[in-house]
Amino acid sequence: MQTTKTEVMNCSHYINGQYVKPENAKTFENVNPATEEILGYVAEGGKEEVDQAVSVARKALKSEWGNMPLRERSAIVRKIGDLILERKDELAELESLDTGKPLWLSTGVDIDRAAYNFHFFADYMTTLGTESYQQDDKAIHYAIRRPTGVVGLINPWNLPLFLMTWKLAPALAAGNTVVMKPSEVTPMTATVLAQICTDAGVPDGVVNMVHGFGETGAALSTHEDVDAIAFTGETVTGTAIMKAAAPTLKKLSFELGGKNPNVIFADADMDDVIDTTLRSSFINQGEVCLCGSRIYVERSAYDEFLERFAAKARELKVGDPFDKDTKVGALVSKEHYEKVLSYLDIAKEEGGTFLTGGKAAEGFDKGYFVEPTIITGLGSESRCVREEIFGPVVTVVPFDTEEEVLEQVNDTHYGLSASLWTSDIKRATRVSAQIEAGIVWINTWFLRDLRTPFGGMKRSGIGREGGAHSFDFYSELTNITVKL
Ligand code: NAD
Repeated sequence: MQTTKTEVMNCSHYINGQYVKPENAKTFENVNPATEEILGYVAEGGKEEVDQAVSVARKALKSEWGNMPLRERSAIVRKIGDLILERKDELAELESLDTGKPLWLSTGVDIDRAAYNFHFFADYMTTLGTESYQQDDKAIHYAIRRPTGVVGLINPWNLPLFLMTWKLAPALAAGNTVVMKPSEVTPMTATVLAQICTDAGVPDGVVNMVHGFGETGAALSTHEDVDAIAFTGETVTGTAIMKAAAPTLKKLSFELGGKNPNVIFADADMDDVIDTTLRSSFINQGEVCLCGSRIYVERSAYDEFLERFAAKARELKVGDPFDKDTKVGALVSKEHYEKVLSYLDIAKEEGGTFLTGGKAAEGFDKGYFVEPTIITGLGSESRCVREEIFGPVVTVVPFDTEEEVLEQVNDTHYGLSASLWTSDIKRATRVSAQIEAGIVWINTWFLRDLRTPFGGMKRSGIGREGGAHSFDFYSELTNITVKL
């Protein structure tokens, strides 16, 4: 069954296998960030809708889904990936309308990877073992895996479908039931995804979705009958969720903010450095949690790097997400655009120099476009160096020694990822082991293998996702001891 345009553009909740939008439902506007046109009026769910969704999710957990043979469940989860690929063009268009990101990026990255999340976790689950021990002639101990329960999936706006599926796929593969809360800024692709799950054969009540703002998310994190919350978003929101979830001691998985360093030594392959740093700085308008926004360059390569990096950044075409030549689209919302521009004012006040950008992109009457911005001359106390801006804005700072750069790199509450560039393998392994981050790339960026642990340390997250790590969160182990 195809989702109707009205259900998508005027996003309804999805509860018990059906779209739900009462006649007199409270709604809010969903705005296209590239044109400022209203895309639709989204249902705003509150405690009542969350209660309803959690209640059907609880019932569904006890029904066929929780007890379905793994092979059957895995085939359904795989099918969701197939259906996403079948509807790729439609989903990519919706993602670009909602986020302002270039269509080629939605198509080639967001939607493809969303589909792969289902294929990967469906297969992985079927190979997953547990521990067992024989204790001499006294006993055999073995662990069994069961679903964590009803899981709330609360997500941000930067990679809406991709990040939702990164949680939903392992949650379903492990037999959980869920209530999704997509970002209020980008509700459309999750609205289609809910229907796709039903079309793939997921029983009613297993996948539910309630739209709304922070209060809707809070209704999930405080809910007595929600067993776990998987959250991706800002660090401050993580704090609020942790507090809200404390009385019911929910299991928590947090993927939070970052202020990721790129460390470039003079012996690195500079062509590769420039091309990759361009991507890690400005892809998706810099709105990727893994973007490298603090760039440290060894002094002897500093001038060459700046000259070549700035020249390439000036060539990036900013504009219409649906123009195939566009490299940088619109920022996701007016609020976010104003936040990013406010950091450009801060950079000026702090005495920074704009090598490129430093302002809203010119030539647009409408839409939230910002020029790719490279700032130099800021010290380690600068707010632009310390705080997550989450836009097409990077700072570049020279360094002289390994010790000095490590001190600056680790001088932050964040610890998500880092990218390290050198042709000296000994230095690469030595320095990478000292960077306080959950992910360190050597001579690359954003190269992912879904079997590897993904997540942040310090205030960038709690727990790891990916491969078996996802299943540690989405399942509980019971150890069984048999006396011999
Ligand atoms: P956000 O924290 O403002 O919102 C994320 C979600 O949380 C939204 O659905 C929102 O409605 C909900 N929410 C807000 N207040 C809540 C509350 N009190 N209780 C429960 N839910 C609440 O984040 P955002 O602005 O949408 O996304 C950008 C942030 O996400 C950045 O900080 C970025 O680094 C981070 N991010 C991290 C990763 C990662 O893997 N570590 C990936 C992508 C984005």
